[in-house]
Amino acid sequence: MEYTQFIDGALTTNTNRESWVNYNPADNNPLGTVYQANEEDIEAAVASSQKAFQIWRTRTGAERGRVLVKTAEILRSRLEKIALLETQDVGKPLSESLVVDVSSAADALEYFGGMAATIHGDFVDLKNAFGYTRPEPLGICAGIGAWNYPIQIAAWKAAPALACGNSMIFKPSELTPATALELAQAFMDAGASPGLFNVVQGDGRVGAMLTAHPGIAKISLTGSVATGKKIFAGAASQLKKVTLELGGKSPLIVFEDADIPNAVSAALLANFYTQGEVCSNGTRVFVQRKIYDSFLSQLRERTERIKVGDPADTDTQMGALISKAHLEKVIGFIDAGKAAGATLLTGGIRPEKDFKGRDIRFGNFLTPTIFTDCEDAMEICKEEIFGPVLCILCFDSEEEVIARANDSAYGLAAGVFTNDIKRGHRVIHQIQAGTCWINNYNITPIELPFGGYKQSGLGRENSLAAIQQYTQLKSVYVELGNVDAPY
Ligand code: NAD
Repeated sequence: MEYTQFIDGALTTNTNRESWVNYNPADNNPLGTVYQANEEDIEAAVASSQKAFQIWRTRTGAERGRVLVKTAEILRSRLEKIALLETQDVGKPLSESLVVDVSSAADALEYFGGMAATIHGDFVDLKNAFGYTRPEPLGICAGIGAWNYPIQIAAWKAAPALACGNSMIFKPSELTPATALELAQAFMDAGASPGLFNVVQGDGRVGAMLTAHPGIAKISLTGSVATGKKIFAGAASQLKKVTLELGGKSPLIVFEDADIPNAVSAALLANFYTQGEVCSNGTRVFVQRKIYDSFLSQLRERTERIKVGDPADTDTQMGALISKAHLEKVIGFIDAGKAAGATLLTGGIRPEKDFKGRDIRFGNFLTPTIFTDCEDAMEICKEEIFGPVLCILCFDSEEEVIARANDSAYGLAAGVFTNDIKRGHRVIHQIQAGTCWINNYNITPIELPFGGYKQSGLGRENSLAAIQQYTQLKSVYVELGNVDAPY
């Protein structure tokens, strides 16, 4: 397989480019060769996107919406093919990619496709005059993606951008080049003009070229805080618009009156879904002292039953981490946790066989890991690990846990489990995080804004809030009387 650029409606064929091998995380066998976009490719992508933008911006919202909704239908009709590609690229279980990744991308296209015809400005009565506003598109928007949810990230950016009349150049992570190309083809098959959604492949250097290009009006990144800061700084010289969806170290707080089995379910979802490679994960699990032992024994028992193994088997519940290098990084955090005095309750092992006895030594597998006896200042409780590592922290009072939960440079997400309705809201209102759940975790419906406080990001994806991120407001004053000049 060759992963090239998708520019002006088709895959490019010129492979005289820097390239590297894309590996399947489940066995580290090669999947294909990725070709890094060069300057020539970026110029071609910008020229093609500019041409498509000039056509697309004149289309009515209803016309734009039809293309988006049709694209969603096409994705759903190719569900099995795209889900398998995603599983081979990311290492996540097929049981997830079949139900979440592709449908979440399609949900975004349907949601913003339906909304496209309703995007409008306001009328302002000014007595002898009136004013109105026009939400106008920005132009070419660049999307830059992380590797954990490749097609979902591409669609969460493309759907609102295109609904608002922009065109998009998307750069997937260098580790997951496959499914953005499927989305590009689906747009074409749905009747989009060539260039409306281009894909360029490559690493951070290509992202930096997009950020610096004067023909690109906006950058929307999903990635780490470090990359977010570089993009923000790079965009500043041209005061380019940015949306930054970054990392986190989110708290999940379980009060003593909570439904414990539900809270345990949420802690598992908040740490082991997609091998723990989820930005909003609740990796600091604060448990109130009275229920600490009972919560922990249920959590351990259910964690040890998680079926780790071949991601392509639909019985598998946890797959392989994205790369050998990332696996080493996660193991480094586990070693640091042990060295700092935390107790490794379970996991932290590279399994040789999966739950059906298959040899998985060559893949990037790690058993789901729980640390107890953690302290807030430990590295494992402060840094984003982005792997299946859960830290349990004990607390006594509401006031104490709020202060400890907020003691982080991040502010992406948070969860609270309690059966006291007043406490649930009271606590969440004091937590410094952009995306919060009461009595659940990691549910991200397209109807609700998603994004971070503090260093977890800028701007919001999903919901009506995304429209502001992809439009600029023009105010028009219309005089109905004479011009009152003192001269
Ligand atoms: P990363 O920051 O290393 O890379 C993200 C993307 O940025 C990649 O496409 C990469 O090629 C590109 N990039 C790297 N350097 C760049 C530069 N200087 N200029 C422009 N682009 C550049 O992140 P990752 O390892 O791919 O993903 C993991 C991170 O993403 C975690 O921190 C995770 O929390 C975060 N994430 C956030 C969300 C969210 O919605 N908030 C969702 C998923 C992942």
